[in-house]
Amino acid sequence: MTNVVEGYSDPKKIANDYVHEVYASLKKRNPEEKEFLQAAREIFDSLRPVFIKNPSFIKDGILERITEPERIITFRVAWEDDQGKVHVNRGFRIQFNSALGPYKGGIRFHPSVNTSIMKFLAFEQIFKNSLTGQPIGAGKGGSDFDPKGKSDREIMRFTQSFMTELSKYLGSDLDVPAGDIGVGRREVGYMFGQYNRLKGGYEAGVFTGKDPNYGGSLGRKEATGYGVVYFAEEMLKQKGFSFKGSKVIVSGSGNVSTYAMEKAIALGAKVVACSDSSGYIYDENGIDVETVKQIKEVQNKRIKDYKKYHSGAKYYEGCSGIWSVDCDIALPCATQNEIDERAAFELVSNQVKAIAEGANMPCTKEAVDLFMKNDVLFAPAKAANAGGVAVSAMEMSQNSMRLNWTFEEVDERLQQVMKDIYRNCLDTAEKYDFPGNLIVGANIAGFLKVANAMLAHGIN
Ligand code: NDP
Repeated sequence: MTNVVEGYSDPKKIANDYVHEVYASLKKRNPEEKEFLQAAREIFDSLRPVFIKNPSFIKDGILERITEPERIITFRVAWEDDQGKVHVNRGFRIQFNSALGPYKGGIRFHPSVNTSIMKFLAFEQIFKNSLTGQPIGAGKGGSDFDPKGKSDREIMRFTQSFMTELSKYLGSDLDVPAGDIGVGRREVGYMFGQYNRLKGGYEAGVFTGKDPNYGGSLGRKEATGYGVVYFAEEMLKQKGFSFKGSKVIVSGSGNVSTYAMEKAIALGAKVVACSDSSGYIYDENGIDVETVKQIKEVQNKRIKDYKKYHSGAKYYEGCSGIWSVDCDIALPCATQNEIDERAAFELVSNQVKAIAEGANMPCTKEAVDLFMKNDVLFAPAKAANAGGVAVSAMEMSQNSMRLNWTFEEVDERLQQVMKDIYRNCLDTAEKYDFPGNLIVGANIAGFLKVANAMLAHGIN
């Protein structure tokens, strides 16, 4: 980096050296955090052209600053099960970046949760939240608690214990969580209730994803899944394709997957497969999304049960087999790194036309490289799944104004946000000489807004 100060004159080499040095240092300081390093690497690879055009960012240490969380909170969560036995889990909240607004990002309850996964999710959130154009910073939280098989009262006791500690660090202008894997309306309701009880009042804007009957926004539940499909439809138009008449596969059968399926079907697609962490369903007549809702949202059962209602459908053990199903469009909506190189190869061999990431970082780097090499249209998560947090920001606005928008009003705004994000990614990619590359476009557009805000706020 000294060569910048001394006026060394090859901007490309300076930018490359900078990115390389910062990544090496990040790796040295966070050696165990493979998901976080994977997410950082993906951003770094896109940002070289930015540092060539704007070398002043280098002197300002922007990459070093943007990759270090403002605050990391970890804490003990002790709770009692129905038999009176005490268990201990670990709670996390990563308050990564507040340059654009209060920290904003979901809470995940899953046994795999650790510092690396929390940091990768919070880091991705920086760029995603920036792309929405809304005044929100970035954070993420959760616990290694496994909600599967727990009774309703156990879930309540756990979430209350979790919130008793976390509440010290939240506030509607400070940090506003929402749901994520393992955290739906019920869990949000318990956490919101406990926060208010501890604070001795009612602070509507401290949580999003609340039940619309109790301060939530209509359309939030549907927003991430619908948003993925709205974004993908814009991308498909680029090549004269559409959801109409396309064969689609969607991994997962949770919040994002269910509403991605619902919207894809509404736009005329046939969704032939979906999954959970045990296996996948193939229904050549088209998945009936109301049955999926009944099994997963109402009964809290396994996707295997779909066969009980639709005898023509087939169930296969093991969730990774879903990628071998012939399709035009694949929407990975379950979890990180679910599409590896092998799965990508199967999709490409079946001549998939487009991938839109509903989950966060569902495709490994090798998988993405293979899609790009084979001209598969690719919508990266931080752009494609930004609809959820965009509607969360709308929920915050409604809470502040103490009014409720209709479902149609929220949905219309969501469609506009997704179109704007798409256009911003496309234009930015073009401007930086990567026409049509939405990965580069999303990374650079998301980065520039935050980086400029950080510089405007001085050195910190
Ligand atoms: P949910 O908990 O509602 O659903 C997750 C679904 O994925 C479940 O069906 C789960 O199955 C399944 N699943 C988990 N692991 C695997 C696996 N290895 N293979 C196949 N299926 C699997 O979570 P969400 O829908 O909220 O979140 C899904 C993804 O979307 C996450 O990456 C999340 O970070 C991201 N996201 C969510 C947003 C939101 O608004 N909810 C916003 C933006 C991103 P099982 O029931 O067996 O566990």
